[in-house]
Amino acid sequence: MTLATEPHAAQDKARFDKAALLAKYRAERDKRLRPDGNDQYLRVSGTFAHYLDDPYTPFVERAPKTDHVTFAFVGGGFAGLVTGARLVEAGVDDVRIVEKGGDFGGTWYWNRYPGAQCDTASMIYMPLLEETGHRPTEKYAHAPEILEQCQRIGRKYRLYDNALFHTEVTGLEWDGARHVWIVRSNRGDAFTADFIGLGTGPLHVPKLPGLEGIEGFRGHSFHTSRWDYDYTGGDPASVTTRGARMEKLTDKRVAIIGTGATAVQAVPHLARSCRELYVFQRTPSSVDVRGNVPLDADWFASIATPGWQQRWLENFTANQSGGPGAEEDLVQDGWTDLSRRIRSKIMHLPPEQRTPANMIAAFEDSDFEKMEEIRSRVDSIVKEPDTAQALKAWYRQLCKRPCFHDAYLQAFNTPGTHLVDTDGQGVERITEKGVVANGREYEVDCIIYASGFEVGTSYERRAGFDVTGKNGLKLSEAWAEGMRSKHGIHVHGFPNLFFVQPTQGANLISNVPHNLTEAGKTIAMTIRHAQGIGAREIEVTKEAQDAWVALLLTGMGRMMMGNPDCTPGYYNNEGQPQEHIARYNVGYPAGASAYFQYIADWRSNGAFEGLEFR
Ligand code: NDP
Repeated sequence: MTLATEPHAAQDKARFDKAALLAKYRAERDKRLRPDGNDQYLRVSGTFAHYLDDPYTPFVERAPKTDHVTFAFVGGGFAGLVTGARLVEAGVDDVRIVEKGGDFGGTWYWNRYPGAQCDTASMIYMPLLEETGHRPTEKYAHAPEILEQCQRIGRKYRLYDNALFHTEVTGLEWDGARHVWIVRSNRGDAFTADFIGLGTGPLHVPKLPGLEGIEGFRGHSFHTSRWDYDYTGGDPASVTTRGARMEKLTDKRVAIIGTGATAVQAVPHLARSCRELYVFQRTPSSVDVRGNVPLDADWFASIATPGWQQRWLENFTANQSGGPGAEEDLVQDGWTDLSRRIRSKIMHLPPEQRTPANMIAAFEDSDFEKMEEIRSRVDSIVKEPDTAQALKAWYRQLCKRPCFHDAYLQAFNTPGTHLVDTDGQGVERITEKGVVANGREYEVDCIIYASGFEVGTSYERRAGFDVTGKNGLKLSEAWAEGMRSKHGIHVHGFPNLFFVQPTQGANLISNVPHNLTEAGKTIAMTIRHAQGIGAREIEVTKEAQDAWVALLLTGMGRMMMGNPDCTPGYYNNEGQPQEHIARYNVGYPAGASAYFQYIADWRSNGAFEGLEFR
């Protein structure tokens, strides 16, 4: 990648009119604000419950579990796998992962839609590559390979032996007299565990648009996270990895509702397969260059010296958040490009002007610049001018999930693929025969909902259960006014319970698995310490938790994310940010690199500051 010298702010002014852009951003946002906010979506239950059925793995009957394990983990995605692996390495040999899907993989178990692929480079996104000896085949691996990596981790650390699949936890309750957690599930399980890990993931409950008539459609329909290959033809490996067509769609008229990160990946495959494809768009995604390439075995062998993945992880994080080693950029992608632009602007300022306000200004300038590039990319690819205009995103890049793809925009040049832009208003309703938008009915055989996942609803609603800690304290009560934790892992009142997720830790959103692998290491070392000193309970003190939360609130916070000026989406609770809650969704003020250094020291210096071992 060539890093051009960044222009100064004065030069930016000549290239685009920021005031006019901001006015356009606001006008586009205002069009999309709606009084029902997050309530516009339908919960997938009742008559819609079949949208949640697992199309991938048959259900196997088993007897309920009433035994005891050392560590139970809720969720068999990356969080459970990496924590399980570290626990096994630390000598805990009875880790039980409880997972609602039929296998490990979490998001990669459910999301098998055509084209599914990681958006962060495989070398850092796929966990435990060095430990499992796997070489990613592409810079951005496709979903089947990521699912296989999950299964490989499960096999290597023997996590399958004790796992409970197709099992949903319905309750977790602390039994203080026995120092154990009681785990209940929808399969009648009622077993106990010394320790609990929670890795339920932020985006795992599919949601549907609350459209009039949605239940009356007579054709076929499904959500992208339960792709119906029986209906479409093909399978994830042939379609996603080898580019085969979904042969059963060749005579079908298909509607896809939504144009977020999922649709951006699925649309090119649908465009090649369907007789007619209608892409219903409310808000365009920003779609930057992907630049996927195969990873060469000789090249990989040359870099894969001991400790390589940790070096790559640290280098990416340093490039994202500043820190030692950022002079070199190993990953070289859209994420590091944006960060380097911002840093380059800041470095042009004299040291005394490197203030938070100027840093925000540098961030904004880089963003305008990047979004202008992304908009002109649309013109350079999409042939039909009105379609090109409608595909341009008018908001800051981090207002919505940035997308990267080299075939999405091109798909709109395919005969039979139609963009139905709704000028921010969305689909009006569903009829027995199809989809109504802009006052016109589009008759289709199939509707695919690429409408995303619940965000902003309560933890217990998304997890499917509440957690009952000491003295009957519910997690829903403890977090009623927002999340409170130390390191995003420990919560006062909930001994022997560990969260594995990014918030209130490094909060490195551009590479979520890095947060998880670090949390896994921290938890394994904490448990080994407790076992070493014969402690049965581990709990963060209230003072330590309060001090940590107070420290987090001294940071620059959420920058563009959750910004009310942003176009509505799940990042800002559909344009109705709940600031009193959202202000706690932050990370370590000094940045992700600094956090990872801090936590490595915290877990290895032997003090486990802030925790009580009893
Ligand atoms: P999103 O929530 O991002 O997108 C939902 C889409 O549905 C939006 O385009 C939304 O429009 C649209 N929509 C909702 N209601 C209507 C309506 N009434 N009419 C028309 N359109 C409507 O869901 P995704 O599944 O695309 O992505 C969710 C997240 O999953 C991503 O943000 C990302 O974090 C993750 N993901 C990661 C991937 C990766 O790493 N490789 C790949 C895919 C997803 P509007 O924008 O106007 O609300």
